[in-house]
Amino acid sequence: MSIKILKKNDKNILKLKKARNGVEYFSFEALEKYEGLINGFSTRIGGVSEGPYASMNLSFSREPDNKEGVLENYKRMAEALGVKEDSFVLSYQEHSTNVRVVGKSDMGKGVSVERDYRNIDGLITNERGITLGAFFADCIPLYFYDRKKQVIGLAHSGWRGTCKKMGAVMIDEMTKNFGTDAKDVIACIGPGICQDCYQVSEDVYEEFSKNFKREDIDSIFREDGKDHFRLSLWKANETVLKEAGVLPDNIFTSNICTACNPDLLYSHRIMGDVRGNMAAFLALK
Ligand SMILES: [Zn+2]
Repeated sequence: MSIKILKKNDKNILKLKKARNGVEYFSFEALEKYEGLINGFSTRIGGVSEGPYASMNLSFSREPDNKEGVLENYKRMAEALGVKEDSFVLSYQEHSTNVRVVGKSDMGKGVSVERDYRNIDGLITNERGITLGAFFADCIPLYFYDRKKQVIGLAHSGWRGTCKKMGAVMIDEMTKNFGTDAKDVIACIGPGICQDCYQVSEDVYEEFSKNFKREDIDSIFREDGKDHFRLSLWKANETVLKEAGVLPDNIFTSNICTACNPDLLYSHRIMGDVRGNMAAFLALK
């Protein structure tokens, strides 16, 4: 399958990997080079779900796609990533900036065990053997790795989360809980909707204008006719991370758009509500 890759830059950001079991997923080269760190972003390829959910739907809440199929997809994903099937801990996303520190006692939550939390868009851990997971279909995944303190974080940042600076909230929580210094953090901004595909109305522009500096607003929005704009969530998240103290050289931004690649990735803008979800994963081995 051909992938539409947007504007090349000097960093080789994402690699499409094909596991022996047929699962295809993206991996950040910037994270791959650290031994003991596992990262991935699923595609639609290699699962068992059918129809509009085909084939690697990783959300249990996208009915009527059946639960057994999604469980099988998790099994295949675990095998592809090289993590244990019972190691997943999943977010419970509601477009908030709530973050939860998770540990061994949370293992399986969202897959084989009921989640005993709600409204959690970011997960952090410093424990090994836990695979953090969060869901996507246009919104932006944020990956964090503190090389010194050996702490990882994974977050969901749609326009609401980005507007409320989820990236900065994650750095803040890593600092509060584990003493993270933003300068030691590698941050990756994953596949999501690109600026050309993402038209928003004036209310979104106005919300951002409350929280972002004038010059930043000018660089993340492009006017698009009367009362409409094109929003770059990638650029906005980069701005937030830099402001939070992450070094520009340690920020790696995807150049793969979910809406530009509907055969490979699920896109809410393209497919609406009847579709599957991709997932982002991050684990310390
Ligand atoms: Zn696009």
